[in-house]
Amino acid sequence: DDTPHPGVAASPGLAIAPVFVLQTPRFDYPERAADPAEQQQRLRQAIAEGAAQLEALVQQARGGEVAQILSMHEEMLRDPELFEAAREGIQEGRSAEAAWWVAIETAAHAQEMLADRLLAERAADLRDVGRRVLGVLCEVSLPEPPETPYILVTDDIGPSDVARLDTQRVRGLLTARGGATAHSAILARALGIPAVVGAGERVLTLAGGQELILDGERGRVIPAPSAERRASAEQRLAERQRREAEAWQARFEPAQTRDGHRVEVAANLGNTTHAADAVERGAEGIGLLRTEFLFMAHAREPDLATQIEEYREALDALDGRPLVARTLDVGGDKPLPYWPMPKEDNPFLGLRGIRLSLTRPEVLETQLRALLMAAAPASEAADKPQPLRIMLPMVKDVGEFRAARAIFERLLDEIPAAERATDVQLGVMIEVPSAALLAPVLAAEVDFFSVGTNDLTQYTLAIDRDHPELSAQADGLHPAVLRLIEMTVAAAHAHGKWVGVCGELASDTLAVPVLVGLGVDELSVSARQVPLVKARLREFDLAEARTQAQLALAQATSEAVRDALEAR
Ligand code: PEP
Ligand code: MG
Repeated sequence: DDTPHPGVAASPGLAIAPVFVLQTPRFDYPERAADPAEQQQRLRQAIAEGAAQLEALVQQARGGEVAQILSMHEEMLRDPELFEAAREGIQEGRSAEAAWWVAIETAAHAQEMLADRLLAERAADLRDVGRRVLGVLCEVSLPEPPETPYILVTDDIGPSDVARLDTQRVRGLLTARGGATAHSAILARALGIPAVVGAGERVLTLAGGQELILDGERGRVIPAPSAERRASAEQRLAERQRREAEAWQARFEPAQTRDGHRVEVAANLGNTTHAADAVERGAEGIGLLRTEFLFMAHAREPDLATQIEEYREALDALDGRPLVARTLDVGGDKPLPYWPMPKEDNPFLGLRGIRLSLTRPEVLETQLRALLMAAAPASEAADKPQPLRIMLPMVKDVGEFRAARAIFERLLDEIPAAERATDVQLGVMIEVPSAALLAPVLAAEVDFFSVGTNDLTQYTLAIDRDHPELSAQADGLHPAVLRLIEMTVAAAHAHGKWVGVCGELASDTLAVPVLVGLGVDELSVSARQVPLVKARLREFDLAEARTQAQLALAQATSEAVRDALEAR
């Protein structure tokens, strides 16, 4: 009690609230049953009961994302194919419980084989639905969270679970496993829920209702805090809320350091319909549009017209602010269902990003064409440019860049100038160490760089960014990663090119001055972080940023970097 317990800082913010420990319930049931007709009847009733529970929850949720996901669960529950699969199991002599669970597992597993982020989430949804029905059958009631604010403690949490969290009541998130760049952590940040992940099995033994301080900034929790510690945490919370309110007030002011050094602050998006929201939060552009989400949202490859329409939605909302669109970044761990690929032993080192795109250049060509055409100046505002920056993911050297550029340049020739973007640049992401090491060669040919620190850290330190135990060590403030960024910026600036950072590191409070000091020209962060990153920039001047960058570069480990920066 009252002792700080370390974990991984996954989403900033501070929470003080009682915990609600969500244990995955245990279900005990016989594998086999004698009377198939009776088992079938039990299953029908349990499904109806589960659907009624969900319907009640949908009503309570009163619209929004939560209601949408629960409605989707209800639909899954009523899926005749699922019932049919379970019925067959019952006919073969299984109990209702066993047959149902086999049907759920088979369906979930089939989803996982498709294994892209969105479809993998549906596997978690299916199991969730499955457990609800098992709960009815086994008369195990699923734990209902309290009505009052709480900190949710679980073993691990899937992206769909995070999306379902009631942001009114869930003040914080604490998990035993998981890492900071896992997509559930990215979602927690998007929802503004403070989170500490990967804190170890011990957190699951916390007593329900016990008070906890969760510090999403430092990545630690303090169970049963003393009155003194609690008071000081409350003071920090109030201070933080004041800072957030101030940052929000000043969100439309240009992003610059105290002495007026401009660093553009842009937003990372996965969905073009959120562009207007990003602008409303003060984003000066979109610094990373993850276009793979557009492709994943369709059952087959979106055609030229569909893509033009979606990109135009973002450009319209941006109203003259730049759009940095990344070309399709799938493959490896996130294949597209309609793009069959052989199984790989090391998907992160396999066919992904630009490598994959170059195996089917016609897909890349359609996407480039759609981007170029979407950014054509509207006829009624021909004088208003729509700045378009296109970047290629996972480039390892200039060969891949040249192959893509050949397509790009042919399109510029083919499409009449009036029908396409005029203010357009072609750049590469720096995510593979070889690209940073060869930045001087690349810089001579590309228009810009954007450093993807999530992947750059993963490949530099040889740590899977989603590894349940190791990802805590995949810290972008590692001196090795910082040196690669330093080399990238030096090469770019020597050729008059600009450099952005669009990985999660760009919104890390300690990292912001370091990146600015290294000479980074643009920071692209989740839309919610935009006001705070702008506010952070106003806290220091360029000379201080340079000092901090040198200080960080001189350290030997990421822990030493963080300690040295914190001590300043
Ligand atoms: C990155 O790798 O840092 C990045 C921004 O791309 P993603 O997170 O989509 O891989
Ligand atoms: Mg990446």
